Amino acid sequence: MEVHIQKNRLRLISGDITKVKTDCIVNAANGTLYGGGGVDGAIHRAAGPKLLDECKVIRKEQLKGEYLPTGEAVMTKGYELPAKFVIHTVGPIWDGKDVDEKGKLLAHCYRNSLLLAKEKGLHSIAFPSISTGAYRFPIEMAAEIALKEIIQFLQEETFGDVYMVLFSEKDYNIYKQTLERLMENV
Ligand code: ADP
Repeated sequence: MEVHIQKNRLRLISGDITKVKTDCIVNAANGTLYGGGGVDGAIHRAAGPKLLDECKVIRKEQLKGEYLPTGEAVMTKGYELPAKFVIHTVGPIWDGKDVDEKGKLLAHCYRNSLLLAKEKGLHSIAFPSISTGAYRFPIEMAAEIALKEIIQFLQEETFGDVYMVLFSEKDYNIYKQTLERLMENV
């Protein structure tokens, strides 16, 4: 499914984000930036070991040894990936508590990734469904937060192409239904 928002395009696709050839892809990382399971592991495997080396430098120099805070984003090169760059962001862990706060943090992941991509002069970005795997965020809620934030950004900015890459038909259909509903009010 594809929609046009101002001069931009938002497209939902189902598939593997490590195969997507955009200017950048977004990694649903954890605060250590040292890799993990799910999409994070897949991105590190496909990018090769230099990705981890650069993540370690970012931890040491840019983050002064601290974890990347939830909702924030940093950029590395894409190495062996078809995408030129990877934006690493940390989604909130769902535990059913502080629902508003967790939703805001998830929105920050999308906004900060888009702002970083724009600041670096990039024109295409692909997101996975952040926080809806190991971090257990309910996908219906996550889809609404993600798409609202992307739509708002594309209404305000001239950016280019935003892809949401959904890893299953079930996830794709949830995002599709949510996007159809949200576009009724755009
Ligand atoms: P989180 O810890 O943020 O929940 P996960 O990687 O566990 O991150 O899951 C986030 C989403 O990414 C899930 O919907 C999962 O199915 C999806 N996913 C896993 N591997 C890939 C991949 N290669 N491409 C796109 N999405 C993926």
